[in-house]
Amino acid sequence: MFKFHMPTKVLVGESCVLENPQELIIGKHALIVTGKSSGKKSGALDDVIKVLENNKIPYHVYDKIENNPEINDMARGGSFARTSGCDFIIAIGGGSPLDAAKAIGVYATNEPKENSDFELYDIFSGTYKNKPLPMVAIPTTAGTGSEVTPYSILTLHKEKTKKSFTCVHSFFKTAFLDGRYTINLPVLVARNTAVDAMCHLIEGYTNKKASPSSDYMAIEGLRIIGKHLDKLQSGDFDVESCTQLLWASTLGGIVISQTGTTIVHSMGYELTYFRDIPHGQANGYLLCEYLKGVDKARVQNCLDALNLKSLEELKEYLGKILPRVDNITENDILEWSSISIKAKNVASCPYPVTQEMEIEMYKNSLM
Ligand code: NAP
Ligand code: ZN
Repeated sequence: MFKFHMPTKVLVGESCVLENPQELIIGKHALIVTGKSSGKKSGALDDVIKVLENNKIPYHVYDKIENNPEINDMARGGSFARTSGCDFIIAIGGGSPLDAAKAIGVYATNEPKENSDFELYDIFSGTYKNKPLPMVAIPTTAGTGSEVTPYSILTLHKEKTKKSFTCVHSFFKTAFLDGRYTINLPVLVARNTAVDAMCHLIEGYTNKKASPSSDYMAIEGLRIIGKHLDKLQSGDFDVESCTQLLWASTLGGIVISQTGTTIVHSMGYELTYFRDIPHGQANGYLLCEYLKGVDKARVQNCLDALNLKSLEELKEYLGKILPRVDNITENDILEWSSISIKAKNVASCPYPVTQEMEIEMYKNSLM
């Protein structure tokens, strides 16, 4: 048995925000959640404001979202939404603002209070007394697929890692994919976010929970990324290639919504937490070592879709597009593996994983 659940409507194409006001406006008072610059630099914020003003919809812009959103900041965002009287969210940005919107949506309708039936960390329970605010998403990076996942990944200092919550009401109502919003991405961000999408597709395809529906989408997403490997290296994008990469990233999101990710992600969180290495880049370092333990036929299907011959060729390609990382010590690896081995992603891995295996994997990938 398998199930397929993806309740988000996806609109793909140039000007899809401007041309679909009825999909963007899902309430009476909008909260726009975005990063410090991504909303403006992508051009998406201007388009959204134009649609809201043309339709006389009041709005507040909350552009305080940092990379790798932290849980206390999310509670502050929720409080802002409550006090401003907003009843729906428009999230604009990479995975950080999109994930932040999901958390702010929960805290907006469920005020966290110490010693009450809803405290700050209860967000990880995934069930809440009041439904989160309804939301729509406009991705400005092509990587996380957060626009179609129910996951929100938050930085948690008390556990020195990042942790996700999942709520069935945290799916966006609509996702708007417009390649114009990613065309000006700094090339390093374009590369590491594409690698994140590649990891979602491969980790989904090789996952214990893979199914015929997720397999089909994973291979299609990898095929699209495979066609863009040269462009990701040269940084020479056009709107059409950006739209294609956004679609591949959305397919990755749909895939991991069904399957979850694997140890590539949970081990990558430590690289981000302790070394501030961008999410996709962190995953990219670990991907090939993870694949060494996976069924060879499934690995070959991924490589064929990417139009690569071997795992060595994939490793060589990732080495060309990702910056080098150094100064990693054995003690670092010991600490990181002691945290990452506790993550729930370990259970989705297609083979049993021990801390010793994660230590080896970190060493072979990073030293
Ligand atoms: P990000 O952290 O959202 O953004 C990275 C950088 O790119 C930021 O400086 C951002 O600026 C900038 N940026 C974004 N769009 C831009 C544009 N169009 N033009 C110029 N600059 C732009 O990066 P991300 O890789 O997309 O997201 C990573 C986060 O997503 C991590 O927290 C990760 O854990 C999470 N994630 C979530 C899921 C999920 O299913 N929910 C899956 C994978 C990863 P600003 O600071 O101004 O925004
Ligand atoms: Zn990811």
